[in-house]
Amino acid sequence: MTEKWKSNPMFWCDYCKVWMQDNPSAKATHERGMKHKENVAKKLRQMRQKADSDKKEAVLADKTMSSIEAAAKKQYEKDLAAAKAVASSHGEWVLDEGSGHYYNAAQRYYFSRETGMYYGGDPPAWTLQPEMPPEALFKAQPKAEPASTSGQAAKTTAAKILLKTMKAAHPLAGIGGYQMPKTGRIGGSKGVGVAAAGTQAAGAKRKREEDAAKAAKQKGLSEEERKALAAREAARARVQQRTMSNFGLAD
Ligand SMILES: [Zn+2]
Repeated sequence: MTEKWKSNPMFWCDYCKVWMQDNPSAKATHERGMKHKENVAKKLRQMRQKADSDKKEAVLADKTMSSIEAAAKKQYEKDLAAAKAVASSHGEWVLDEGSGHYYNAAQRYYFSRETGMYYGGDPPAWTLQPEMPPEALFKAQPKAEPASTSGQAAKTTAAKILLKTMKAAHPLAGIGGYQMPKTGRIGGSKGVGVAAAGTQAAGAKRKREEDAAKAAKQKGLSEEERKALAAREAARARVQQRTMSNFGLAD
């Protein structure tokens, strides 16, 4: 007698890695067994541990990230502060009312807006290439322009005239030599001021002639040019007066 072969359905327990008969009673028996219970508990333990370590890793990665970010931020702030320090070490250009020039105390240079030249260095001289870092150079500040359309042209002309007139000389270049002041505490006490009447008269005459020549020269100039020259002359006079005062050469 032959029996027809028939495969029994089987069930795979993933905890215990074993096959068993796929029927309720066989499965129930297996699940009640000590071995299966231990395997299930072990699997749960492993899953919990993995979750914990995953979490720990995530926290660590987070911490690492924020510490990198914090370090980057700190470095950025440091760079910013350093840049600021460098900028401030270049000094500020402050308008000197006496001379009409801008002065940078950190660089020890004057700057003339009219000519775009710097005065300073050792020995001091007017120059277009002062010895200072490019960042420290005078930067044009926005200034209210005259309303007239010819304002810019007039300014340019005035600047040219001024360049010609001042011959790039130091504002105090006129002090000394035969122009030594004859008045003031020092000039007076040395008797320099007690000059012969004739000499004084000659000096006054020369002064009158110079003024006349100056006036004639200015006749050919436009209103703006004359104004610019007058402002320049007034500034020069103020500087000279102040310096003479400082040296005790003026009343
Ligand atoms: Zn099992």
